[in-house]
Amino acid sequence: MVIVTTFALGRMRCHALEAGRQHLDGGAMFGVVPKPLWEKRIPADARNRIPLAMRCLLLEHPDGLVLIDTGLGNKENEKFRDIYGIENAGAESRTQLEDALRQLGHRPEEIRWVINSHLHFDHAGGNTWRDAAGTVAPVFPKARYIAQRRELDFAHRTNERTAASYLPPNFDPVEFTLIDGEREVLPGIRCLPTPGHVPYHQSILVESGGERLCYLADLVPTSAHLPLPWIMGYDLEPLVTLETRRALYRRAEGEGWLLFFEHDPGIITGRLGREGKGFGLVEPRALG
Ligand SMILES: [Zn+2]
Repeated sequence: MVIVTTFALGRMRCHALEAGRQHLDGGAMFGVVPKPLWEKRIPADARNRIPLAMRCLLLEHPDGLVLIDTGLGNKENEKFRDIYGIENAGAESRTQLEDALRQLGHRPEEIRWVINSHLHFDHAGGNTWRDAAGTVAPVFPKARYIAQRRELDFAHRTNERTAASYLPPNFDPVEFTLIDGEREVLPGIRCLPTPGHVPYHQSILVESGGERLCYLADLVPTSAHLPLPWIMGYDLEPLVTLETRRALYRRAEGEGWLLFFEHDPGIITGRLGREGKGFGLVEPRALG
């Protein structure tokens, strides 16, 4: 099983790290898109679930190792892991994400920066881990963790619709460096507010040697979600997602961005192309 895919962006070495898989309801993942259409892109299992990657991005930045999103972590119980079809156990370490780092010769202590796109459990669950005594602590003790200030507030003020996705052990033990809106957090690494999935969701734009990569996170979770109206049922503000995509696609197309898909089971990156009247994927890079 491939858990690390290395590629170059300009002068920067990048690694797509497979932090494991989850299996979510296909209907929920594709919102109003009818099943006969979406199942041609990603087939469903007997429980109507589709396999989804939890793909993190490790950057060898001149200022140190930068990790974008952290997968699900090791804190959830068997019932939770069954409901969401979680497969992320490490063969040699606490999680598959740590196995991937280890394959590159890195320990969690070497990560200098962690950037969370948002604080849902499948993106920020690997921020922390639970030891045998039940203590929860940061997985990356020497890292500076970055999140949007209003996303952290939002995660603390949940309601019946949002509570299941925001689990405090994923963010309460972390001392975040909080940012407000668009911000270049390191030379060439820019956090871009991309609201819709949640109000303070961010994507991460990385630039090196004139090339640009966008870690889309849940703005476009898989390459199958590139058509503008293929929006997740999970999104809190789908019409905001639509307009966020429209604006981002304009730049992505104009500047030839490499797009990085966090949840796509088979495609790691690609570029935005035209498919009929809408958008599609060109230059796909498959996993493995
Ligand atoms: Zn999410």
